[in-house]
Amino acid sequence: MPVSQTIGNSPPQPAVVALDVGGTFVKWLVADRTGVLRRGTTPTRAADGPERSFGVVLDTVDTALAALPSTHTPVGIGLAVPGTVDERRGVCVYSENLGWRELPVVERVLRHTGLPVGFGHDVRSAATAEWRLGAGRGIADQVYVSVGTGLAAALLLDGRLVVSGGYAGEIGHGGTLEGEPCTCGGRGCAETVASAAAIARRYTASTGIPVDGARDVLARAREGDAVAHRVWEDAVEVLGSVVADLIRVTGVARIVIGGGLVHAGEALLTPLRDRVRERLTVHPTAHILPAVLGGAAGSWGAALLGWEAADIDLDPILTAYADAVRTRSEPGAAE
Ligand SMILES: [Zn+2]
Repeated sequence: MPVSQTIGNSPPQPAVVALDVGGTFVKWLVADRTGVLRRGTTPTRAADGPERSFGVVLDTVDTALAALPSTHTPVGIGLAVPGTVDERRGVCVYSENLGWRELPVVERVLRHTGLPVGFGHDVRSAATAEWRLGAGRGIADQVYVSVGTGLAAALLLDGRLVVSGGYAGEIGHGGTLEGEPCTCGGRGCAETVASAAAIARRYTASTGIPVDGARDVLARAREGDAVAHRVWEDAVEVLGSVVADLIRVTGVARIVIGGGLVHAGEALLTPLRDRVRERLTVHPTAHILPAVLGGAAGSWGAALLGWEAADIDLDPILTAYADAVRTRSEPGAAE
C-alpha cells in the first residue's frame, strides 16, 4: 500500500493553535501532541486601536488554522495576553499595551472559531510553561519573575496557579509614595527602576546618550562607565528587594527569573542572589534560576492552555514537549 494512502486512511491528528499576544508582535504556533508543526509572527498594530489589534488576533488565528497540515484537525485555541487578565471570566480587564478594557476575549474567539478557547495572562502562561516543561519541572511551589519591558510575577503555590481576579503577582506597581513617576500614576514603583526598559531609560536620562536597551547599559558598565554601573546596581537592588518580599510572603524555595533581562545571565543572577540573601533572616534562601524556554515560553504556555480547553489528556503531551525542550529538537524551543 502506498504511504500516502496509509496516511489518507488515518484519522486526523488533533492540534492546537496558540497565540502569545504582545504589544508589538503576536507570536503564533500550531502544535500537535508531539511538538510544533508551524509557527510565525505578525505585527500587533496596537497603535491602530483596540478593535484593530483584536482584529489582528482573529486574523492570526485564521492564518494559523489555515497553516494546519491536512493530516491534522484543530481541537482548541490557546491565547496568552499582557495586562490585567481574569482567566476565570475569560476577560482582559485592562491592557495598557493593547488598549483593551473589559474585552471578553474568550467569548469573541469562541464565536469566531467555534473551538474551545483557553485564555491566560502572558507572564502566568510563560510561568506555567517553565513550571511544566522547563526550569520548574517537578516542583510544587515556585515564583516566576518576568523582568522585561515591565516587571511582574506569577505565583505557583501548592501546585496551583494563583490568579486572584488577575491581580496576583502585579509586583511592578505600587508600594511606594516617592520616586520617579510611573505609567500607572504612582511614584517610585519597582518597574521604574527594575525593568529592562527602566535601565535603558534611566541611563539615557542621566547621560543624554541614547542606548540600545538594557544590554547596551550592561556592556557600558562592564567597560567602566560609572553611570551605567549605578543604574544596573539600582535595578538589581530593587529587584532583590522584590524577590525577598516574594519569598517572605510565599515561602517558596525556587524563584525562576524570565523576561528579556535574564539574557544578562550571571551579571544579573549573581548580585541578585547576594541582595536577596542579605534581606532574609528566618527564611531559607531560595534557589534563583534562569528560565530555560526564553522568548518561546509564552507560546508554549498558550499551547498548553489550548490543550486544556480541548479537555485532552495533558500528561503525554507534557512529556513529549519537555523532551523537545530538553533536546532542543523543536526549532525555536529556546529562542
Ligand atoms: Zn507603577
